[in-house]
Amino acid sequence: MASQRKFFVGGNWKLNGTKKGVDGIIDFINKDCVDPNVEVVVAPSAIYLDYTRQKVNTSVGVAAQNCYKVGSGAFTGDNSAEMIKDVGCEWVILGHSERRHVFGESDQLIGEKTQFALKSGLKVIACIGEKLDEREAGHTEAVCFRQTQAIIDCIQESDWGNIVIAYEPVWAIGTGKTASPEQAQEVHDTLRKWLADKVSPSVASSVRIIYGGSVTAANAKDLGKKPDIDGFLVGGASLKPDFIQIVKARA
Ligand code: PGA
Repeated sequence: MASQRKFFVGGNWKLNGTKKGVDGIIDFINKDCVDPNVEVVVAPSAIYLDYTRQKVNTSVGVAAQNCYKVGSGAFTGDNSAEMIKDVGCEWVILGHSERRHVFGESDQLIGEKTQFALKSGLKVIACIGEKLDEREAGHTEAVCFRQTQAIIDCIQESDWGNIVIAYEPVWAIGTGKTASPEQAQEVHDTLRKWLADKVSPSVASSVRIIYGGSVTAANAKDLGKKPDIDGFLVGGASLKPDFIQIVKARA
């Protein structure tokens, strides 16, 4: 079903790549990734943000995978929104499940980071999603609502034009177990209805909600047919030429 929301495909390279590896990815992207109907954003490690921004086609956005909630100071090992912008990048991924569950980031910290990134002029891919035990206990909605509410609490309605929500069930990330198109659609639809109530009907109908978790060239077409799935956040498959087929899933 056609929607007014532009299809969005993000490639989250995570902690992968060397300059040579990055060159290989950029090569296949630059050859075949330009589609005026799809917004494509790639997220290299912070070390390669500048390098990637200089080499990848200008129609492709570049995102950091994380940034801190203040602009500068004694925060060893972290990066700021200002630095990301300074090297020409426009986006940041925040709240990725690996940040939440490996690095212990709280809902509140992610809300604060989102607020600061948006204020600094970055656009945000805000990730949410339940763990397997939470799904099995019937808490999928409650977890997604709680994580999204922490972001709502920190931002203004007008900020939503600069946010893409990535629904990424933790049990599907890097496991090869994709949510079925029906499972993903159900969460996206429920979340959109909830956003109409919690933020506004216009934000709910315009915000892009993308799916992430073991998206591949093989499953992207069926997922992409669902009316509330506005694109993908792709991990493993974004390192391979399959990424191009995922970008073109709706073509
Ligand atoms: P995956 O990762 O595609 O490798 O499951 C998705 C993500 O973590 O964004």
